[in-house]
Amino acid sequence: MSNDNFLSIEEKKRPDWDQLYMTMCYLIGMRSRDPSTHVGSVIVDSDNVLVATGYNSLPRGIAPDMYNKRLSREQGEKYYWIEHAERNAIFNAARRGTILKGCKLYVPWTPCSDCARAIIQSGIDEVVVHKNGQDFYDSYTNGKWKDSEERVKEMFIEAGVLMQYIEMDIVVPEIFMNGEYLDAVVNLNQKNE
Ligand SMILES: [Zn+2]
Repeated sequence: MSNDNFLSIEEKKRPDWDQLYMTMCYLIGMRSRDPSTHVGSVIVDSDNVLVATGYNSLPRGIAPDMYNKRLSREQGEKYYWIEHAERNAIFNAARRGTILKGCKLYVPWTPCSDCARAIIQSGIDEVVVHKNGQDFYDSYTNGKWKDSEERVKEMFIEAGVLMQYIEMDIVVPEIFMNGEYLDAVVNLNQKNE
């Protein structure tokens, strides 16, 4: 067992692979134009090499229409038009002819059953869900998707896809220069004052 107290500050600040790619999920989700929820997903191979990313979006070439009707959750329209982050990551890999067999997918909360089937069929055999993100999602949606989650868990177990809920802090970017940690946002972003 490693004791955190004996780690150097550099080791403590160094994100592990799970933290790195889960943080990336939230960052990539920021590209989404879904007016209700932004989700990002990352796929890596067994050597932790980044393979594909995706966020929930309209398909390529499909534009948000006037008044954003296509994106409307209230009218139920977005469910016809918007593709989910996990499947977009899978499709982005397909565009490049990338094999996903044996890969690992990161996502902030449990995939829906449509994405779960796509995950199984593409050969992805491991899914990492952000425990903190799942807890947030459950409280925010009042457990609305629990039935779906149960079916997804059942499907993954039967198909041999390992799904883990991992508790972790997400990472805030910093610069390390001359042995010193500096706030990346403060030091790099333009100040419009
Ligand atoms: Zn989905």
